[in-house]
Amino acid sequence: MRYLIAANWKMNKTVAESVEYIEKFKPMVEDIHQVDIMIAPSFTALSSVSLELNNTKIKLGAQNMYHVDRGAFTGEISPIMLKELNVEYVILGHSERRHIFGEKDELINKKVISALEYGIRPIVCVGETLEERELGITLNVVERQIKMAFAGVYPDIGLCDIAYEPVWAIGTGKNATKEQAQEVHHFIRTLINELSKGNDETTRILYGGSVNENNAKDLISQKNVDGFLVGTASLDPEKFYKIITHS
Ligand code: 13P
Repeated sequence: MRYLIAANWKMNKTVAESVEYIEKFKPMVEDIHQVDIMIAPSFTALSSVSLELNNTKIKLGAQNMYHVDRGAFTGEISPIMLKELNVEYVILGHSERRHIFGEKDELINKKVISALEYGIRPIVCVGETLEERELGITLNVVERQIKMAFAGVYPDIGLCDIAYEPVWAIGTGKNATKEQAQEVHHFIRTLINELSKGNDETTRILYGGSVNENNAKDLISQKNVDGFLVGTASLDPEKFYKIITHS
């Protein structure tokens, strides 16, 4: 399996800062062939970053999208707008979308179906809150999120990637231990193998939540950790590069 190391820049970097980053980062990863690399900048920077990434192996991602192709949806971005900019991946159901912007499993499912229709590869984010972990319901939460996100498209799970991002580990500097990550990743692998009837071989299960250049090696050593979705540490090209080379 080819690992995926993905950067989620969230609401950081202007167009100028994004272009400056890419110009520095491109030559650094020129000789890296063993993993897929993806960067998801802000919507305003997508167009410029897309031009910068032309003729490179670095893939372009979006941080969200709406599931309808056009219409009266003020403030939303459609799959055809992303396709036009050569966006290949879209992060869906990120915990910040779920918790700050109130996205529910049903909406995330519509977005997954739409992304697949347009040939954009979804990275579906799942993960429990601290309260849910303490209640001992982590696996139940993850199971519900996965079953609902992929409802109606179980045979196509191989066209998607999944990111396990425990909410308590996001932006806190407190990553899941490798054992905690492996437990959930193994559970997800078994679940998607059943749901897709074995069509999950090309699905990467990424870990996200305070990944950095110091803990990447340890986390990626786990059997079912197939890459990372990196927030804070991906904002610095040197740190992101180190995470890639440790994977
Ligand atoms: P941090 O790496 O900042 O914890 O963010 C993780 C994340 O949410 C990636 O999508």
